[in-house]
Amino acid sequence: MKNFEMKLESGFAKLTIVDHPLIISKLSMMRDKTTKPVDFKARLNEISHLIAFAVTAHLKTTTRQIETPICAMDAPALDEEPPILVPILRAGLGMMQGLEMILPESAIGHIGVMRDHVTHLPVEYKVSLPVKIQNRSIIVVDPMLATGHSAIHAIKVLVDHGADVNRITFMCLVAAPEGVKAFEAAYPTIPIFTAALDSHLDENAYIVPGLGDAGDRVFGT
Ligand code: URA
Repeated sequence: MKNFEMKLESGFAKLTIVDHPLIISKLSMMRDKTTKPVDFKARLNEISHLIAFAVTAHLKTTTRQIETPICAMDAPALDEEPPILVPILRAGLGMMQGLEMILPESAIGHIGVMRDHVTHLPVEYKVSLPVKIQNRSIIVVDPMLATGHSAIHAIKVLVDHGADVNRITFMCLVAAPEGVKAFEAAYPTIPIFTAALDSHLDENAYIVPGLGDAGDRVFGT
């Protein structure tokens, strides 16, 4: 099987842009303002599923003895529990179906962060995490890395609850350079995976060209 391409680009040490043709073409459908919520959500889940291959590529494997119908073999198996998934509410929920298809046994936490429309700063309204997050791989998901404030806030919540910062990965769909810069300044060791690095933020902190408000487009609000 041909490996899909993953690029490290743009001077951001921890940013991986997963620009597989299927991913970027589906993203273009999502960017189109005439795309209906049902199609937007379907493409978001498909892309999340595809990016998850890159995000989970570092998971440790071991072997375990099994019997195939033909013979015994040392078969590859994950050497750790599946990563905990933490969507940042509400837009992160739109990526979960695609992730759960590939990680059906993952525990799931939720961090609810609203953005104050004047200050653009995060306002936390919910934290619900699995009991044991210490020494576990964790994937934090949010479609848009704009200012970086929500993502940085969510990571802080996890670290405050005992998560190992070296086992956290952040996964999004579209990132702005401003957000990547802020995130890397706060958490320089955390890998970020995205399908696209866009141009910049506008005066309302929306990503340009972006795709608008991801939460509104997922939920049709
Ligand atoms: N959140 C979104 O949903 N879209 C943006 O462009 C920025 C933040």
